[in-house]
Amino acid sequence: MQVAIITGAGSGIGLGTAEKLAAAGIAVLGVGRDADKLAQLDHVVPPEQLATLPVDLTDDDAPRRVIDLAVERWGQIDILINNAGIGKPKPVHETDDATLDYVLALMLRAPFRLIREALPHMRAGSAVINISSTYAIVGGIRGGAYSAAKAGLLGLTTHMAVQYGPQGIRCNAVAPGVINTPMTEDNFESETFKKMNDHMTPYPRLGTVEDVASTIAFLCSPGAELINGQTIVVDGGWSSTKYLSDFGRSSKWVAAES
Ligand code: NAD
Repeated sequence: MQVAIITGAGSGIGLGTAEKLAAAGIAVLGVGRDADKLAQLDHVVPPEQLATLPVDLTDDDAPRRVIDLAVERWGQIDILINNAGIGKPKPVHETDDATLDYVLALMLRAPFRLIREALPHMRAGSAVINISSTYAIVGGIRGGAYSAAKAGLLGLTTHMAVQYGPQGIRCNAVAPGVINTPMTEDNFESETFKKMNDHMTPYPRLGTVEDVASTIAFLCSPGAELINGQTIVVDGGWSSTKYLSDFGRSSKWVAAES
């Protein structure tokens, strides 16, 4: 049985990914800050395939604790998914040092340190997936430290691909666009937000956890064996065009917003 570590596994994209991997017969070590959220995994992963560890990933000893638990329980690590994150970013001029340090610690330093601890246990055929964001690919309003951390993950991904590819260890990134999860649910309460994203996205619907989890699961699968060092954007085409729907280009839109 393959073994996957998923950070931020108690909700949103992490939880959806745990469900997908478990259905494919993969054991899951779900890691997250909040034990109550991690309990959600009981509903989607069979007990013999599940371990959980509530831990703040910014703690210095967190990566060692995560890797030790996976190795104690199953003796191997095949997949590492660096997914934990926080939203509500602030632009540079509103970001104090404490916020900058925390955002980089959670979304860049922790993935780096987890990878470093996991590598000695990974054999040929293993895969690392870093969850980045479209905010690493296009300029993001209010992106600040979040954009910086997510872009840093892409540099780490390409480095990993060339450095560890020769050992049969692949590394790829997934960059979701706007996805309805606990991180963004406030935004999804706003009809303006939803409409704005709708009318700037060529594919005619908003993104779901299922869209991202399926992409992650594919990148972990043997079918993706030759995919290494790539960033797969899951955003319906939002970041690859200057698309605006007919409605978005119409005076009706301007009138509706003014
Ligand atoms: P989410 O809030 O449901 O999931 C994030 C998880 O990370 C939570 O379960 C949370 O408990 C965990 N976490 C946060 N801080 C932690 C810490 N210090 N230690 C351990 N765990 C911690 O949100 P999501 O949308 O599923 O986000 C998953 C990833 O996807 C994040 O990295 C996010 O930046 C990225 N992403 C999300 C979107 C989106 O629109 N939802 C878009 C692009 C990228």
